[in-house]
Amino acid sequence: MMKYDNIFIDIDDTLFDFSMAEEASLKNLFEKNGLPFDDEFLSIYREHNLKLWRDIEKGVYTTDDLSELRFDGLVDKSRFGSHEEYLKFSDGYIDELACCPFVFDDAKPMLDKLYGKCNMYIVTNGVARVQYSRLEKSGLSGYFKRVFISEEIGLHKPLKKYFEYIFNAENITDKSRCIILGDSLTSDMLGGRNAGITTCRIVRKGSRIKENPLCDHQIRSLDEFIDIVM
Ligand SMILES: [Mg+2]
Repeated sequence: MMKYDNIFIDIDDTLFDFSMAEEASLKNLFEKNGLPFDDEFLSIYREHNLKLWRDIEKGVYTTDDLSELRFDGLVDKSRFGSHEEYLKFSDGYIDELACCPFVFDDAKPMLDKLYGKCNMYIVTNGVARVQYSRLEKSGLSGYFKRVFISEEIGLHKPLKKYFEYIFNAENITDKSRCIILGDSLTSDMLGGRNAGITTCRIVRKGSRIKENPLCDHQIRSLDEFIDIVM
């Protein structure tokens, strides 16, 4: 017997290992363009990118601004023949990323267990082209009733309106039968709270999980999620 009819699932660092995809994509892109790439650059990039995505969640920027801002201050733009060439280089990252699904080992077994017993939806703030490509390449797209990508609907997690859009689109009225599964406190868990649904956070790293008022459940691996929803 299912406790939830509708499960909203985040992609990056929930189903897919984004850190691994990110590193492989940057490395490929930089090598192809004859630029140096090392661990130090990677950590600087990650800090820069994290801040960028926080600003996107806050509505300061949109994903349309990513081409311009992705490597802002991190690479010497003057080495590219023109600004257009720089943007082309920057978006080359998206092409690389689209090729790299890196699905976590516990993702498919969980989806197999739940498939057919409830509606599963993808909820992601990622770039549409990347997310569709990775869902296809990983063989995961068939598990989901529908995919809700912020870039396509013009609303993003953690906005209450983002979730209201989904409830309307899918005629969902009973929020007590909805749960969100994701890794991010600022987009998934806060979004779930804003929407008034149950929240479950996956915490793969770190030695200890701290209690958090935004999280109804916190789990270490996706197989634990099955016990929460069934
Ligand atoms: Mg995520």
